[in-house]
Amino acid sequence: EEVISKISAGEVIESPADCVKELVENALDASSSRIDVEMLKGGKRYICVRDNGTGIHREDVHKVVQRWTTSKIKDMSDLMSISSYGFRGEALYAISTVSKMIIKSRFFQDEIGIKMEVEGGKVINKQEIGMPVGTCVEVYDLFYNLPVRLKFLKKEDTERNKIIKLIKEYALSNWNVHFTLHSNGRKVLDLYPCEDKKERIEALFGCKFEEKSIEKNSINISLYTSLESSRGEIYLFVNSRPVHNKNLLEYIRKVVGYKKICVCYIDLPPYMVDVNVHPKKREVRIYKENIIKEMIKELFRRQEWYPFE
Ligand code: ADP
Ligand code: MG
Repeated sequence: EEVISKISAGEVIESPADCVKELVENALDASSSRIDVEMLKGGKRYICVRDNGTGIHREDVHKVVQRWTTSKIKDMSDLMSISSYGFRGEALYAISTVSKMIIKSRFFQDEIGIKMEVEGGKVINKQEIGMPVGTCVEVYDLFYNLPVRLKFLKKEDTERNKIIKLIKEYALSNWNVHFTLHSNGRKVLDLYPCEDKKERIEALFGCKFEEKSIEKNSINISLYTSLESSRGEIYLFVNSRPVHNKNLLEYIRKVVGYKKICVCYIDLPPYMVDVNVHPKKREVRIYKENIIKEMIKELFRRQEWYPFE
C-alpha cells in the first residue's frame, strides 16, 4: 500500500504520444527484440504497438488494465533501483479508460494467445486466439469519451511528429531492437538491430558521427556529434531513458555548438538520479550535476590538447 501511494501520480495520458510512449516502454520491458508501431491520423484515430517479447500470462491478461497492477516492482526499496521503464502499473489502466483498446498477447510458455477488448475501461470481450509469442496493443479513438481533452489535442501533424521523435529516442537508447514505424500506411522508420550505439545513430540520421567518451567514479558519458553541420538537434539519455533536463541540455549545446546533431548517453549509479520527479518520468533530477558538466567539458578540452588522437 505504501508503494501504491508513493507511485500513484494521477493520470498520465494527455496525448497519442503519451500513449505510444507507455506501450513502447512496456514492449521494451518485455525484452522484445522487435517493435512495430503504427498510427493513423497522428495516433488520434488509431495506435498499434506490436512486440515479440515475453507476452502476458493468460491468467494475467485481464489484470493489466486494472489500476496499480504491475509485475515490475515488489517493495519500496525497488523504487531506488528501477531498471525497467514501467513501475506504476497505471499506464494500461489509464489508456484503457479513455479509449477502445484491444490487447492480444501470447505468453512465451503458452501455445495460444488471448485477445481482450476493452472499452472505456470495461472488458467487453475475451477469447483465445492463435498468434505468435508477444503482445499487440491497439488503441482506437483515444479520448472518445472525453470530448474536452479530444478538443485540446494538437493538429494531426504535430501529434505525428511527436510520435516520430519519440520512436527515434527509444531507437537511440535501444540500438539492438528492430523498430518500425508506419503512419497512415506509409513506412516512416525501419531501423534494423545494430551492434552498437554509433551504428544506430548513423543509420538513423544518415550521416557520420564522432564519438567521445569518459568514465570517472562509476559515471560513464558517451557523446556523439555529427561530422556535418545541420540544424542542431540534441538527444539526452540517462541510464537508457530519454530525458529532458533543461539545464544539462543547454550546457551540452553550448559546449558542442548549436549546429550539430548531438546524442549524449550518461550512465550513472541509480542513487544519483531521481526519476520520480515528474509522473511522465521525462524530467529527471541528477544529484551532483556539476560533476557531469565537468566531465563533458573535459571531453572537449581533451580534444583541444590532442587534436590528432
Ligand atoms: P507498468 O509498466 O508500470 O508495470 P502498465 O500499466 O504499463 O504498468 O502495464 C501493466 C502490466 O502489464 C505490466 O507490469 C506487465 O506485466 C504487463 N504488460 C503490459 N504490456 C506488456 C507487454 N507489451 N509485454 C508483456 N507484458 C506487458
Ligand atoms: Mg508500463
